[in-house]
Amino acid sequence: MIGRHAKKKTNPAPVMGVVLAGLFAGSLALAPLDGGSGGSEASGGSSGPDRTKVSADRAEPSPSRKAEKAPSKPPDDCEPSEATDHGYSNGRIPTKELCPLPQDDEFLRADAAVAFYKLNVAYEERFGEQMCVRSSYRSYEKQEELYESMPSGMAAAPGNSKHGIGIAVDLCDGVQDDDSPRFAWLEDNAEKYDWLHPDWAYSSPYEPWHWEFDVGQD
Ligand SMILES: [Zn+2]
Repeated sequence: MIGRHAKKKTNPAPVMGVVLAGLFAGSLALAPLDGGSGGSEASGGSSGPDRTKVSADRAEPSPSRKAEKAPSKPPDDCEPSEATDHGYSNGRIPTKELCPLPQDDEFLRADAAVAFYKLNVAYEERFGEQMCVRSSYRSYEKQEELYESMPSGMAAAPGNSKHGIGIAVDLCDGVQDDDSPRFAWLEDNAEKYDWLHPDWAYSSPYEPWHWEFDVGQD
């Protein structure tokens, strides 16, 4: 059932238009964010290498795109039933207890990761490329840095972030702008894959890039 109606094929031309629009929206929106809350939250993430790789993929119509298709599930040792059994506290989870995402150096708790892989496949079918992730699981130390570098109220206190339990991602390539087609698509589709944009992130603080695994669903 999952992902069934995401399989609809779209014409390449409009998709390309959307990709370009996303690109522009991305670069425009990134400029102010770098000096503000979003940029600060992203700092320390792996946005640099990811963005470079994504741009390179776009630059040449790659015949190997098919072979690089988003994997539909995490490695076999990612076991959702053991997702919370490790006993580590917020921000103290070793990455070996988490599941790697297809995006380099990004990790989530197993249950969130399984759902993320499905959402990522549907997103790729829609936009022709995988989700751009600039932050996922975040260590206590990294959250502390972030908290100290941002205005009050703009970052969760260390020990309280959903990133610290591996069930949140910060997205890029357009999603950081809530007028973007990518944000709109996620708003319409993420819940089918048990992901959501929390109510607070619409305004206080405004974090369109922040998405969470919906632990209330199964
Ligand atoms: Zn976030």
